[in-house]
Amino acid sequence: MKAIIYRKKNKIEPAILPEPELEKNGAIIKVTGCGLCGSDIVKIRQGLIKEGTVTGHEVVGHISKIKGNKSFNPGDRIVLGHHVPCFRCVFCKNENYSMCAHFKQSNIIPGGFAEYIYVSEEHLKHTVFKVPDNVPDIDASFTEPTACCLRAVKRAGIKPGDNVLIIGLGSIGLVMGQIVKHFGANAYGTELIDERKELANCLGIETVVSKGYDKVFLTAGSDATINAALSSVRDGGTIVVFAGVPSGETSFPNNEIYYRELTVMGSYSPSPADLGESLGLISKKVIKVGNLSSVYDIEDIEKAIDDTVSNKIIKAFIRMSP
Ligand SMILES: [Zn+2]
Ligand SMILES: [Zn+2]
Repeated sequence: MKAIIYRKKNKIEPAILPEPELEKNGAIIKVTGCGLCGSDIVKIRQGLIKEGTVTGHEVVGHISKIKGNKSFNPGDRIVLGHHVPCFRCVFCKNENYSMCAHFKQSNIIPGGFAEYIYVSEEHLKHTVFKVPDNVPDIDASFTEPTACCLRAVKRAGIKPGDNVLIIGLGSIGLVMGQIVKHFGANAYGTELIDERKELANCLGIETVVSKGYDKVFLTAGSDATINAALSSVRDGGTIVVFAGVPSGETSFPNNEIYYRELTVMGSYSPSPADLGESLGLISKKVIKVGNLSSVYDIEDIEKAIDDTVSNKIIKAFIRMSP
């Protein structure tokens, strides 16, 4: 089968891999397409993964073969979350599912940028969902990233009437803003690219920005955006960190956090329940994702990465076969 494998820092290439087999219980999914996530690009461009890795996790596809599970049938169109928590450890008991060791090591095999993947029995039980007929494939592929945003908004404790600023209106910022509004808060955003501001306005996110926000979401990480977050959050407010910084080194603004009683929190990955809820919001069009992706064939994945990095597009959906 066709797949895209990681060779070395900043180098991926097409390869032919053996199709995964259904030796244990679980399912083989024929991948229709897979969203290209910012985290895939970071892993490839910064060389954070092992040679031979297949990246991609925002998968939409069909069940091709299944064993030991009665909830799905061959042919079902599905989306999935790639990690499954254990539900028993200290992290899971405190709802920090993405910190669970089992969560981190469980994965789809080999990865979403392949024609077929294997998902385990526990994936089928907790993180695989049938896609309603009214939801196009591309929209469905937003289930996982939307769930990440949903969890961040829940963690931040957004209340009706809160004024919330989103720094960076890429695909994540545009989804985050819609979820913030769904929770009854007012969504504002900052962004340098005019087209994205217009799109944000169409989705109900204001781009005229003042100061004194109850909550600020950082969807783009750099010294500049951290300073922007600190200067736009009100005293006693909350900053949600939803992006890494390229160097991994920024100073911890101890005195600002202390004297201004700020809450600074990170939010990383969704819970299984967030995934189901996210697909529901997409299918009811509460969260509109239809205009955010551009479609690329698997052979053009490098172009998709270049176009994403250069902000030519907002997000890419990588189609496995035309
Ligand atoms: Zn992702
Ligand atoms: Zn756990």
